[in-house]
Amino acid sequence: MSQVDPRRLIPRTDAVLALPAFAEAVARHGSAAVKAAVTRAQQQARTGEIGPDEVVAAALAHLPARTTSLRPVLNATGVVVHTNLGRAPLSRAAVEAVAAAAGYVDVEFDLVTGARARRGRATLAALREAVPAAGDALVVNNGAAALVLATTALAAGREVVVSRGELVEIGDGFRLPDLIASTGARLREVGTTNRTSLADYRDAVGPDTGCILKVHPSNFRIQGFTSAVDVRELATLGAPVVMDIGSGLLRPDPLLPDEPDAASALEAGAAIVTASGDKLLGGPQAGLVLGDAEVVERLRRHPLARALRVDKLTLAALEATLRGPVPPVVADLHADPAVLRARTERLAAALGRGVVEVAGAVGGGAAPGMPLPGVAVELPPGCAEALRLGEPPVIARVERGRCLVDLRCIPAEADDVLEVALRAVLRVDPGDGGDGGDGVAQVAEG
Ligand SMILES: *Cc1c(COP(=O)(O)O)cnc(C)c1O
Repeated sequence: MSQVDPRRLIPRTDAVLALPAFAEAVARHGSAAVKAAVTRAQQQARTGEIGPDEVVAAALAHLPARTTSLRPVLNATGVVVHTNLGRAPLSRAAVEAVAAAAGYVDVEFDLVTGARARRGRATLAALREAVPAAGDALVVNNGAAALVLATTALAAGREVVVSRGELVEIGDGFRLPDLIASTGARLREVGTTNRTSLADYRDAVGPDTGCILKVHPSNFRIQGFTSAVDVRELATLGAPVVMDIGSGLLRPDPLLPDEPDAASALEAGAAIVTASGDKLLGGPQAGLVLGDAEVVERLRRHPLARALRVDKLTLAALEATLRGPVPPVVADLHADPAVLRARTERLAAALGRGVVEVAGAVGGGAAPGMPLPGVAVELPPGCAEALRLGEPPVIARVERGRCLVDLRCIPAEADDVLEVALRAVLRVDPGDGGDGGDGVAQVAEG
């Protein structure tokens, strides 16, 4: 009996690629990536690292688990709108809407007449239904884009009257005065940092006024000897009032009494309101413009509007957010404290750890200084890095040297996954916690 050279048993590339599992892999990863994985596995078989019968499995194993490098994480920070973690997680309805819109869709086409139709009309209708005081609506890329478009269309070459108390930096170096200057409008500052009166505005408003801009100083608070002029009074001065509410709250929320909302601002007389879609509205990144139909139309017709246009995926996600179930951001903000506590205590007991009271935060430059009372599992200091580097990555909150795991923004159905991730870092075996909890938890080093 002659020995067969095992290398002659290595399956050929075309034979491997013909297997059903590889057709599926090509659809997901592309043929170049799949061929490279097969070649690598064949090479391993040639060197004897694996057997010829292991080539198929090895090739599949070489394919990346993900086709995007963005890693889903568990947000255990208790900060609901977390900019670094992508702000608002979409509702399942919104995710499904995005998937459905990913192909060819009638975004700008009327199936009945076969003619071109207004882009995103269903999303705009949903916005107008959500805010009946708005005569019309427009969606652009983000809140900053909405503000740029509004000041450009209404005030380029003219003046934007704004209080010195509202010349804010929103984050990541985005400063309102610079943004307005970039539109070709001139900034007409009125009042002082802490106090601005109606007379200050009145003295500034004149034939050269393009608009009065009112900005919600969303990420800080000025306290003490302060005064500001509300939209109702500004609307009496004869110039269109643009109110940048920031957060995307469409109607008042009793939980957030200091947060301005679109409906109230329009009812008070604002010509238009600009806002983000992915803060308190809980939808995709988007900039909303709501308000007087003629003013919105001026913005829509401005050439800049085309450069700030949103894609069909955003329109789909936004419509589903407006019409569908309560999005995660809103649900998490309003989470039942008793349910949160029960989940937290169960997890803490399972891990043999303690529960501490914490203040969560709305985040995303909304409701500054308004803590969200909650609870968290306290882990030994130094766990945060290991949690971050685990699978899935868990982003804990580090506060005064403590490592806190806040369940507010963890979907209840992910509690088991979270527990496994925490056990891995604490090196608590299943069954160790709960009844014992006698300090068995060990922090994994480094
Ligand atoms: C967040 C915010 C913006 C910017 O909105 P983006 O959607 O992040 O571009 C503008 N104005 C205010 C008051 C904000 O809070």
